[in-house]
Amino acid sequence: MLYVSRDFQSEDSQIKIGPPGNETIIGGDNFTVMAGPCAIEDEKTLLDTAFEIKKTGCDFLRGGAFKPRSSPYSFQGLGVEGLKILQKAGSATGLKTITEVMEPENVETVAKYADMLQVGSRNMQNFSLLKEIGRSNKPVLLKRGISATIEEWLMAAEYILAEGNFNIVFCERGIRTFETYTRNTLDLSAVPIIKLESHLPIIVDPSHGTGNKNLIPSMSSASLAAGADGLMLEVHPHPERALSDGKQSLTINEFNQLLSKLNNLSSGICQESKIRCLN
Ligand code: PEP
Ligand code: MN
Repeated sequence: MLYVSRDFQSEDSQIKIGPPGNETIIGGDNFTVMAGPCAIEDEKTLLDTAFEIKKTGCDFLRGGAFKPRSSPYSFQGLGVEGLKILQKAGSATGLKTITEVMEPENVETVAKYADMLQVGSRNMQNFSLLKEIGRSNKPVLLKRGISATIEEWLMAAEYILAEGNFNIVFCERGIRTFETYTRNTLDLSAVPIIKLESHLPIIVDPSHGTGNKNLIPSMSSASLAAGADGLMLEVHPHPERALSDGKQSLTINEFNQLLSKLNNLSSGICQESKIRCLN
């Protein structure tokens, strides 16, 4: 029997993020919104962004310090310097932090600075990375591989679970198809499928899933309606100046508008469960 399966555990898992006594829970009745820039660019921009996110009531700040870029000549992230900035922004605001780890040798370092690790799409089947994360007890967001089937994605989670780390959240971020209008094809059917097959929570990243900020409000609403446990959204104070993924980044204003829309939608669906970030 697989640890990832509903046969192993029938009730939904709730994943606790952050230090004991000050944890944020992903799963259950919560709808968790993780927001922030694609990459950590400099201290001032990240701190400004973090304070704006804090004002919305959301709990999570995202930002990459180690960036997996298609071209080796594109901005690769600030590395450990970026992790330090992220940690500073987290302590200054009280937001939980999440950032990508790309190599097994870096798991310990990234885990020291951030509350949650992110396995990026390009690394979903980096088995030595998955095993190393499995041996740490750090919560991890496991993004779906660019061309991964749901079966392969579940098995990637199993690699982490098999080493003893049960703190996993799935993230649907779009898959590569023949369609070129969008950057990826956001497979929202993955949400109810993962819910059916696994006890672990799943959130959706419509930013990488569409690559186009105009599509993000509808796909965010659709994710909520499909039963996702939250969203990961790229937000930047000046998307036109962003060092990466500006086209899919929301301004702070647009982010606020989206949260109001989601909150209205969620109260329309179920009176009791307003989205967590606006409670
Ligand atoms: C990211 O979230 O920063 C990222 C690179 O996403 P993905 O791995 O889904 O492409
Ligand atoms: Mn990005």
